[in-house]
Amino acid sequence: MKNIASKLPSEQYEKNFSDLHPPFTQNSAVAEANRCLYCYDSPCMKACPTHIDISTFIKKISTGNLLGSAKTIYESNWVPLTCAKACPVDVLCEGACVYNAKGEKAIEIGRLQRYAIENYFDKGMPALFHKAPKNGKSVGIVGSGPAGLACSAELALLGYEVTIYEANKIPGGLNTWGIAPYKMRREDSLKEVELVKSFGVDLKTEVMIGKTVKVDDLLKKHDAIFLGVGLGESPQLSISGEELSGVVGALDFIEKVKTENWENVHVGKKVAVIGAGNTSIDAATEAKRLGAEQVFIIYRRSDVEMSAYEFEYELAKKDGIVFHFLTSPKRIIGNSFVEGIECLKMKLGEPDIHGRRKPVPILRSEFTIPVDMIIKAIGQETKSSFLSSIPKLTLDDEGCVIVDRTTFQTANPKIFAGGDCINGGKEVVNAAYDGKHAAHGIDKFLSKK
Ligand code: SF4
Repeated sequence: MKNIASKLPSEQYEKNFSDLHPPFTQNSAVAEANRCLYCYDSPCMKACPTHIDISTFIKKISTGNLLGSAKTIYESNWVPLTCAKACPVDVLCEGACVYNAKGEKAIEIGRLQRYAIENYFDKGMPALFHKAPKNGKSVGIVGSGPAGLACSAELALLGYEVTIYEANKIPGGLNTWGIAPYKMRREDSLKEVELVKSFGVDLKTEVMIGKTVKVDDLLKKHDAIFLGVGLGESPQLSISGEELSGVVGALDFIEKVKTENWENVHVGKKVAVIGAGNTSIDAATEAKRLGAEQVFIIYRRSDVEMSAYEFEYELAKKDGIVFHFLTSPKRIIGNSFVEGIECLKMKLGEPDIHGRRKPVPILRSEFTIPVDMIIKAIGQETKSSFLSSIPKLTLDDEGCVIVDRTTFQTANPKIFAGGDCINGGKEVVNAAYDGKHAAHGIDKFLSKK
């Protein structure tokens, strides 16, 4: 990269990446828990994809029963620390809290959940669950992200021999690699991995299924397989100049921010992020926090159509990110290094088959934004070539594995799947739900219940 943003003093990086929502103290947690009305129909619980018994865990915090509170949470969700820190609570549990209808501040469910779970880890993960005796059956789990961890924990407690196969050196999937550090640090994700391992789950890292180990060998070795593989690379922009130095994928960039010393992560002085989803906002705000002077988000539709959540949009604006809506990249300019991006103004035309109005180019509306780094954040593709190599698996038009939505069984009866590889990329909490319920699908299949 030619122009690199000036280095910040190390304490400034710490400040820039500090917790967005600092933890509760004991007094503030109890005070917040005491605000809860313990609604009999708990709309918050219905809005949580894993249906955590929210009013019960909050009640236990108010009475000082913090381990009981953690147990209530774990009964529904095996990655609750990640969910407490990274879930879009405004549109899930907290968005459904009855206080919203009264025009008052919703109960801070995410922060209360974090309080109970951090206390559980601080106490050294005391045993909360009874483990069933070994039943002599084994299950192989592909991927150690939230779906794989949830499935593994549930199966291990049911008495199965469980082995996780993880391609990466460090486990945890997107929880470890893909969540902005001001939302969650890598160490938090690794604590959730350690808890699952404490149930006797064997974790093998740096194992590439299809390369290091064949799928057929896994099918012979285990009584069932669960696929909890995430998504793959960002698709190409397919415009000229994409090969220039300074063009990077959003996930690669975010991974570097999560794994390297912040002062060693390369960031330009002027950065353009292409796309306006939640990952784009993460990449843009991280670039700004690393010291980029100007960061632009370029999106071909308007703010109404963008997929980023409202609170992410607000965060980006607060960080000084400049949005270019109704703007499409036409070509990347530069000679070896990125020097600018030529864009085209768009207008919204007729709705497409999904009802979203299609962006239509405005002729001769080209303009150039001088930038020295471009981050591509236009979504991620499914790992369809890997998935289609697995015997008898069926994929939909988007490359997602087709499963029975109750048992999570695929067209190959020995193989189950959940998380991003069946939904094309949703929240961590959806993957946690899939993994847990797939475990029960596997148990039903193997015990012929
Ligand atoms: Fe408590 Fe709000 Fe849930 Fe009611 S909706 S139980 S007040 S968190």
